[in-house]
This record gives sequence, structure tokens and C-alpha cells, in this order.
Amino acid sequence: MSEHDPHHPGVRPRTAVLTRGFDPSLSLGSARPAVFRSSTYVFANPEAAEHAFAITTGKIEPAAGERADLIYSRFSHPNAEILEDHVVPLEAGARHAAVFNSGMAAIMTAFFACARPHTSIVYTTPLYGGTTGLIHQFLEPFGVRGIAVAAGDTAGIDGAIAAAEDCSIVYIETPANPTLIMTDIERAAIAAVRHPNHPVVMVDNTFLGPTFQHPLELGADLALYSATKYLAGFSDMLGGVALAASEELIRKIRSRRSMFGNILQPDECWMLDSRLPTVSLRMNRQSKNAQRLAEALAGNKHLLRVIYPTLFEDAEQRRIFEKQCAFPGGIFSIEFRGGKPAAFEFLRHLRLARSAVSLGGVESLTCHPKSTTHSGMSAAELEASGVTDGLVRISAGIEDWRDLLADFEQALETLG
Ligand SMILES: *Cc1c(COP(=O)(O)O)cnc(C)c1O
Repeated sequence: MSEHDPHHPGVRPRTAVLTRGFDPSLSLGSARPAVFRSSTYVFANPEAAEHAFAITTGKIEPAAGERADLIYSRFSHPNAEILEDHVVPLEAGARHAAVFNSGMAAIMTAFFACARPHTSIVYTTPLYGGTTGLIHQFLEPFGVRGIAVAAGDTAGIDGAIAAAEDCSIVYIETPANPTLIMTDIERAAIAAVRHPNHPVVMVDNTFLGPTFQHPLELGADLALYSATKYLAGFSDMLGGVALAASEELIRKIRSRRSMFGNILQPDECWMLDSRLPTVSLRMNRQSKNAQRLAEALAGNKHLLRVIYPTLFEDAEQRRIFEKQCAFPGGIFSIEFRGGKPAAFEFLRHLRLARSAVSLGGVESLTCHPKSTTHSGMSAAELEASGVTDGLVRISAGIEDWRDLLADFEQALETLG
């Protein structure tokens, strides 16, 4: 299926996600896609099998508009193709996508498609714990040098990219988790373009994308997602997505995916596909809820600070937020004066918001990063990243914000 919706040219992303890609006539007229669970696909004749393999293995180029026959579901299958077509219009600037069975699978496969031994990868810290582990415990022993640079340090990131020898990847996660420190994607992309190796600029866009932040329009080469979070939105499945303007880059990533066998399975593709038309509705509601809660809790006597983009005081952080994010998003963090005991007491008394890791679902979730998601970091890393004993991260759901605020306030009152 083609890059643009051929039947409805020029429609906007929220329309295209419903009109593009899926052809009901290929599913017996079913209004929504069928699930194709087959592991293997039947060829019309031996020549068709030979031709499909020649395209899939890259021996020949497909003709203009030609889509290779399906072969075997580890390479691709109809539900992956439908999902990939539907997710593209949500990411501004994207023309191609590849789907994976988790966010970590997408990140790992992108690294393996672009990193080579004896090259370096410049990355912002803090990163999602799994990504940090992937760099330290896997890439570095394989001979890829990791060069860490503090998130939000615009000049420092420019300098680190310029100085990185044999640089293959620049990897950015913005906003950072759980302190929401923002990194200027456009500046990093400019530094990468000036670098003689032209490193691939990858952005983990899980926290604000695809609705509020568009890395590809800011010069990044690849947007990566844990689809487990906002894209799926109901805390009931794992998934990952890589999106790019470059067909060549996605083709490279898909070829690694075929080797690794980490494509998203048909049932999960079907589920995720059905969630895409509501991503912007859910994210807008979650962002509004988070903003109302964060601004109402700011100044509470039990809290040292409330971390949320509309409350940023640092001028550079405000500049980046205003430049690269359409809305502040559904995540905020609160820091208790009473440290860990106060944070735990607060979590113990919440009645509506549940205590769980993960984020982006329609239900509000809370966690204490230092003792859970970030417990693998060293004392120095925790200190440098601002992950303190009193910090609690909140992922706002789509409940009525007044009920959530009342819940947070009653839990705060228990602190006396
Ligand atoms: C959850 C998460 C990941 C990992 O995704 P999985 O789907 O759990 O593999 C990567 N990056 C960020 C920012 C995340 O929140």
C-alpha cells in the first residue's frame, strides 16, 4: 500500500489513520481488518516464490508501487503491514514504519542496524533503564563505545557529538524519565549532520509522541516507541515501533527484525491497530488531567516541588519545551519534603491511582522510581539525574481529574 492514502489525498493524520492502508476487499469486506494468524503464505507458482524471495532478500528492487508477496510471518504478515501503514501518518515526517514485539525490541534492533564495532554512540542520560542496560551490558562488550551526556545540556551535547570519534548513533530520550528534563532535538540533529560520520539520530519519543512531539520534523532520522505505553494505551499489551522518512533505514531495520524474529505478532498488531485512532484523544485528555493536577498540587506544603513542563523555571528548559512540544503531556513528578517515608505513606493511601510501573494507560498509575524503575542506577547517577528519595512519578489517566485531585489531596493529608 502506498505512502499517501491514494483514495483520500491530502487528509490530515487523524483522518488518515482511519482511511489509509487497509483495504476491506482483502478481508472479505470486513469493515475492520481480519486477523491473519498464518505462519506461512501460499505462492501462485514457483516463479512467484522465487520473485518474492529475490525482493525480500534484497537481490532485486520491487517495481514502482509493487508490494512483495508475503512469504513467512517472521519477515512480515498482513496485520503488521496494516499496522505499519496506519501508524505512519501519526508521526509527522514519517513515511515508513516497522513494528516490534516490545519497545526494547525496537530499540535493540535499531542499534544493531546502525552500530558497528569500534564506533561510538552518544546518548543522553538518564535513559530508560532497559536502554542503559543495553548500552552498558551488551553494546560496550561488543566494542561500541558509549559516550554519556547530561539530558538538557544543549552546548554539552553539541560538544560531545562534535568530539565523538567514529560516531554511528546519537541517541536522545526527551523528556527524560522521571524528571522530564528536555533535550533540544533540532540542535543535536544539526551537530550530527556536521559530523563527518553522519551518525543516525534516534529519538525515544515514548513520553510525548506521536501527538505532542515530532522528532523527524526536527531533523532526527528515527523515532522509536514503546507502543506498550500511549500507543496501546490500556496497559494490556507490549509493542514497539520504529518510524523514519528514509525507506532505506527502515528496510535495514526490517532485515535485522527478520533475523531476530522480534516482529509483533498478528493478534497484537490487530489490537494495537484498533487503538491508533484514539491515541490523540487519550493523550489530549491525559495531558489536560496532568496539567490540572500538577498545577493544583504545586505549592502544597508537603511537596518540595512539582515537576511539569508548564511549571519549568529554568529558562533553557522553558525554551526547549516551547519550541519542540505542542502540549506538556500526561506525566508529572512530585517530590516530598519528608523523603521516602512520606512518599511511601502517600502511595499507601491512594485509593484511585494505583501503584505500578509503566505509564500511558487510561488508568492513572504512580511509582517511586528510586526504589523500583531506577533502582539499578548508581548513587552518583541517581544524584546527577535528580532521582531522589522523595520523588514519585505519576502517569495521569483519563479519569475525571477532580476525583484524582481529591484522591491525591486526601493521601497528602495523611502526612499530617
Ligand atoms: C517502557 C519504555 C521503554 C521500553 O519499552 P517496552 O515496551 O517495555 O520494551 C523504552 N523507553 C521508554 C521511554 C519507556 O517508557
